Order: sequence, then C-alpha cells, then structure tokens
Amino acid sequence: MPILFISDLHLCASRPEINRIFFEFLRGPARGAQSLYILGDLFEYWAGDDDVLDPLNARVIGALAECGRGGTQVYLMHGNRDFLLGEAFARASGAQLIADPVTLDLFGSKTLLTHGDTLCTDDRDYQAFREEVRSQSWQDAFLALPLADRKERIEALRARSESEKSRKPPEIMDVNRGAVESLMRKHGYPRLIHGHTHRPARHEHRVDGRTCERWVLPDWYKSGGVLVCDDKGCQMQKL
Ligand code: MN
Repeated sequence: MPILFISDLHLCASRPEINRIFFEFLRGPARGAQSLYILGDLFEYWAGDDDVLDPLNARVIGALAECGRGGTQVYLMHGNRDFLLGEAFARASGAQLIADPVTLDLFGSKTLLTHGDTLCTDDRDYQAFREEVRSQSWQDAFLALPLADRKERIEALRARSESEKSRKPPEIMDVNRGAVESLMRKHGYPRLIHGHTHRPARHEHRVDGRTCERWVLPDWYKSGGVLVCDDKGCQMQKL
C-alpha cells in the first residue's frame, strides 16, 4: 500500500470545490494508503483549536477521523498558516502531529519531510516574523485572546502579507539552494519532500558528490495534487 503526501490545501469556506476534492480524496485514494502525510497549510489559517464550531473545520475533523478509522494513519505537520493546530485538534481528528523537519524510512529510502518555509532564507522579513510567531510566549499571548479577536488579527496579517508578497521578487519566495543542500547534508543526503512554495516539481541536487531528489508538492488552488510513493518510487498525481 502506498504512502501519500499532500500540502498547501489552504482549505477555507470560500473554495468549496477544493474542499469537495479533499473530502473525496479522503474517502477514495487516501483510504487505500497505509499513511497520509499532510505537510502543512491544510487550512488557509487556524486561529486555535477552539474554532471547531466552524462548520468546515468540524467537517474536516470528522473526515480525517473517518479516514483514520478506515486504517490510514494520518500525520500532520504545521505550515505557516496553521501552526496553531494543537493537541485538541489532533485528538479529535486522529491525526498525529509531527515535527518539522522529520525523517522517515520510505520503502527503504531515507526521506526528509519539511513544510518548506524555513528553506526560504532569502526572505529575511518572513524569517523574522516566523521566529516571533513560533515562540511559546507569542503563542500563549495570542491564544489567550478571544477567538473573534484572533480571527480579526489573522485577517489583518493576511491582507498585509498579500500586499507584501506582491512587492517581493518571486525568487525571494522560493527556497534557497544553499539552505536545501545544507539541510540534505545535515540529515545524511535523504530524499526531500516539501511544499509551501506552490512550485510543484522534481529536482535533483548534487550534494558532496551524491545525487538527492527533492519533490515539491503542489498547492490545491485550482485542483488537488498528491505525491504517491511506494516501493517503486514516487510520482505526482492530479486530483
Ligand atoms: Mn506555506
């Protein structure tokens, strides 16, 4: 049975077609897999685990739990949009939160998983922002706010980040080659799978005389996409 990798779904109520593709994916291809790795940005944003009265959030939790009951272990990594997903979400959905980065033995090939935002080291403003919001003190203070306030602040942040993104040269928002290769070196030259940049591709890197494969997962803006891996290797499939 294959192992599946997806990321950057950015689920939100305003994109019902993508939500439909995701629920069909969980009832279909995901049920035939031994495990499903969601490598960040499952949601357009996550304001906190108390946001479960939202109908879409409740449906996603239910669908993930059902997929898990069907025998597929679901693993969930934080993205830059949904890094506040916590243990309560994990318990309710049956998904297991995993660290970023994490390595696994994928049918005999050492494979490293990461969301991908830490590799975009040319975007210094973003890295400074990331360091701030990933700190425990920032998260404690933020989660202490009422849910409605949190959502309002996230909306304001998103509007600001959209306008900043439109001013940044596109190469700044891609991964830095040196950051990718030093991560590969640090982890013993694994295959690397990540998302975040929305630039789906298979790359090869020569690192210290070794060839390493890097898969970039697609976003789910126009359609869905999944990386399917088994003992013969990996291939990207459209949904
Ligand atoms: Mn991302």
